Amino acid sequence: MARYTGAVCKLCRREGKKLFLKGERCYTGKCSVERRTYAPGQHGQGRKKTSEYGLQLRAKQQARRYYGIQESQFHKYFLMAERKAGVTGENLLRICESRLDNVVYLLGWANSRAEARQLVTHGHYQVNGKKVDIPSYLLKAGDTVSIKKKSLDSEKIKAVLETNGSRPVPQWLDIDRENCSAKVVNLPEREQIAVPVEEHLIVEFYSK
Ligand code: SF4
Repeated sequence: MARYTGAVCKLCRREGKKLFLKGERCYTGKCSVERRTYAPGQHGQGRKKTSEYGLQLRAKQQARRYYGIQESQFHKYFLMAERKAGVTGENLLRICESRLDNVVYLLGWANSRAEARQLVTHGHYQVNGKKVDIPSYLLKAGDTVSIKKKSLDSEKIKAVLETNGSRPVPQWLDIDRENCSAKVVNLPEREQIAVPVEEHLIVEFYSK
């Protein structure tokens, strides 16, 4: 399935909640979800009643859109999560959180996950000292992520660091702002993951 290239705020309005897809704007009064509290399109203000299946589908779509992951990859993550010990839903979110593009965003090295994906593809970051340009690369506890030395001269990277320099970083990532590097201390516990979904609904969706 092709990647969605339309207006991202419509995705939030469709889900009826903020998915934080646009960086700074998401934290201002310009956020579309705050200004228009109904779904986009002709029937956006119509029927609100949702079936059980509908709730499960929406939870799955919300998580996918929040992380910017395509359906086939998300389903693969679900199968991986099922094979791991522990709670499948939490495993699934942990896998999504450990993606390189997500970690780059959480560290404040990109304004949004979409931008993080693009900057990773452009080869601005390293994992354990080696360039990695695959946004879906899954990090492990103990890995070190850093911005490439040469990339620190890039106007784009400079601007991003200036904008997000003081953004709080989750505790499972130990950031060294001075050297533009960070260590994955451990993979996050559920309470350290901010995604606004009930993951058990996603498990129910795929378990049918
Ligand atoms: Fe747009 Fe961000 Fe608001 Fe979503 S949270 S509607 S992406 S401004």
